[in-house]
Amino acid sequence: MKHSSPIYVAGYRTLLGYHLTQALRRHRFRNVVAESGPDLADASSTNAFFAEFGPEYVFMAEGLSGGIGFNLQHPATLMQNNLVCLSNVLHAAHCKNNIRLLYLASSCMYPRDAAQPMAVDMLGTGPLEPTSAPYATAKVTGLVLCESYRREFGCDFITVIPANTFGPGDDFSEEAGHVIPAMIARVHKAKSQDDPEVVVWGSGKPVRDFLYAADAADAVLFLMRKYSDVRPINIGSGTGVSVAELAYLIAEVVGYRGKLRFDTSRPDGQPVKILDSAPLARLGWKPKTPLRTALEETYNWFLQPSAGERDVSLPRYGERGVSIPR
Ligand code: GDP
Repeated sequence: MKHSSPIYVAGYRTLLGYHLTQALRRHRFRNVVAESGPDLADASSTNAFFAEFGPEYVFMAEGLSGGIGFNLQHPATLMQNNLVCLSNVLHAAHCKNNIRLLYLASSCMYPRDAAQPMAVDMLGTGPLEPTSAPYATAKVTGLVLCESYRREFGCDFITVIPANTFGPGDDFSEEAGHVIPAMIARVHKAKSQDDPEVVVWGSGKPVRDFLYAADAADAVLFLMRKYSDVRPINIGSGTGVSVAELAYLIAEVVGYRGKLRFDTSRPDGQPVKILDSAPLARLGWKPKTPLRTALEETYNWFLQPSAGERDVSLPRYGERGVSIPR
């Protein structure tokens, strides 16, 4: 990737899209379109944008996502939005020659009972976790579509599977947030109100592989430069942490001294999700930020008065006179 290469981040509003854009600008890439991209749910607007901007590198981070509660309440919305956006982006990218595209998938694509840590050979070997199956099915479709464009048209499309990503700019809401931002917000509220106890969803036993978004963005840039293969590749921290351990760590970071109550009427989801990140380590990449530091940075961001104002209603390509930078 040259500093002048035209680069498109599809999905600036997603956590990873946001961190990727920041990382690209920090690394002085000058021709990055992110905030002003097209409405990717609209095929003609997507095609027009690709024809006009002519990106050479595309990071496909677009698609709605949410925590376990959001997945249970909005399975159709999540699945449909992801299917449409990935179909539009991959199609538009394959129509232009020599685009290198990196598709961001999700660790929920692995079978619910996959052996741990989960290696890419296990994809497609068993049933998905029911709480996230519709979203995960859309993500698997993206993987198969990338492989298919590679086979049929020789497109240089790769699939990258990140672990449970979190960080500044996350969705901290109760309804849609993943466990880390939702719990930070809840524990912070309990501390502010002097509540004697705070609720943690589920048994606390599920184990997750938590990856700091800044590290994830760094790994994605690394892979865009170094990796070209039909086989997907995982990005994880290499470590599993239980929801209970995480909850106590968040309480410490926030400075909450009350009790944690595990509400087993809430779903646990997949029992364990740890990615096998050995192939990425062999290529020479490892995460830098310890979990505690990453939680502290995320909490500090959450405390800023502007937290929650990120990225809403930004102008898009074709609207309000937004044009493509040259
Ligand atoms: P998942 O990896 O797709 O299951 O994503 P989540 O981040 O939503 O949930 C991870 C685990 O954290 C599940 O076992 C949840 O039950 C548990 N959890 C505990 N408290 C919360 C919470 O406040 N919000 C969410 N989303 N999950 C929570």
